[in-house]
Amino acid sequence: MSVSIAAADQTVCAPLPVLGRDVTVPLVTGGEVTYAALDYAASAPALQRVWDDVAAYAPYYGSVHRGAGYLSQLSTDLFENARRTVADFLDCRDGDQVVFTRSTTDSLNLLAATLPAACQVFVFETEHHASLLPWRDARVTYLNAPRTPGEAVATLERALADRDPYGPALVCVTGASNVTGELWPVRELAAAAHAHGARIVLDAAQLAPHHPVSVRDLDVDWVAFSGHKLYAPFGSGVLAGRSDWLREAEPYLAGGGASRKVSRREDGGVDVEWHESAARHEAGSPNVIGAYSIASACKALTEAGFDTLVARERHLIDTVRAGLAEVPEVRVLSLFGDDAPRVGVISFVVEGWNSSHFAAALSAEYGIGVRDGLFCAHPLVRTLLGSDPQAQGECGAPEAAPGEKSLNAIRVSFGAGT
Ligand code: PLP
Repeated sequence: MSVSIAAADQTVCAPLPVLGRDVTVPLVTGGEVTYAALDYAASAPALQRVWDDVAAYAPYYGSVHRGAGYLSQLSTDLFENARRTVADFLDCRDGDQVVFTRSTTDSLNLLAATLPAACQVFVFETEHHASLLPWRDARVTYLNAPRTPGEAVATLERALADRDPYGPALVCVTGASNVTGELWPVRELAAAAHAHGARIVLDAAQLAPHHPVSVRDLDVDWVAFSGHKLYAPFGSGVLAGRSDWLREAEPYLAGGGASRKVSRREDGGVDVEWHESAARHEAGSPNVIGAYSIASACKALTEAGFDTLVARERHLIDTVRAGLAEVPEVRVLSLFGDDAPRVGVISFVVEGWNSSHFAAALSAEYGIGVRDGLFCAHPLVRTLLGSDPQAQGECGAPEAAPGEKSLNAIRVSFGAGT
């Protein structure tokens, strides 16, 4: 491909390569460069501490909850300790459950499977598809994109005021946008939800790697996040929070580990008593390395201190935004405006450029890995681009013709954890 990114200029790239791991990649223009992984919002590189902890445990790998032998006992202890570490990391309430899942998507689908009958769900159209889509079997109200945090709270309050006050209700909201990086007013939304007798689940996939998340302080009922965005890429996630809906629901997966007692009935069928603990929704052999690596990352972030991490990340955000501001063709996407508090996730379009080509050129010519597309948040990105709701524009798709509005965007994302 003979694309040059002259329009972007070195100012976009210069401060960034320090963020990558020391991986060297070849450039199409010749030579090699230290790869700058700037796609943390998709998956963040693992912390060295996580690799070290996993390597130290690997020789002792064994089956969880399924053996009297030393390796099984050790793995069971590590798995259950990981649960306690995550509960501490999230500042859970007494009685809250921590369920290990595969990812945020899995966690939110699990919660969706536990909704009580006739539950109404309220969700902003701006959500990542993982928090937008799992509720489609319920009565869902999709709320329009707000243009300020205050408008988000007011919109939710209006919608909740109209709801059936006697039935159960759930609000699902993201803590930090995977498109704009902007922080949502979670505490205020939780207060509004509770004032109207609803519950709230926080999608912390993009928040937890950057900011402390306290279930108590935010007063949210559940939190979901993914290990691979929190520097622990071993296929695990978390759903933590109130135990009642989880305990009352049918197991998410039926199988061993979730069942306490299984017996044949006289009529030939099978009776099952399910666990009431988190194991109810963790049937099958659990991903002990995934849980262990999440716990390792939680400890590492806590020890590094979020005050330090937030300050370091703020510096990185300011540097990248200042670099982008120097390029007149760049338009940074924002819902809440320039001054909104945000994490290290920045999406933009470059006038006159096809976003997919631009992202490909950043990789091929500068060794900078970013993402292009609609970032699994199609309604939000289309709103921000002002494009036709039916427009495609996912990664690699044909782009807008010259002079037309962009159909997709470019995203750089990073964190201070590594
Ligand atoms: N929620 C948000 C805000 C995200 O950014 C993502 C992933 O990008 C998800 C949920 C889904 O996470 P996962 O793919 O780990 O399930």
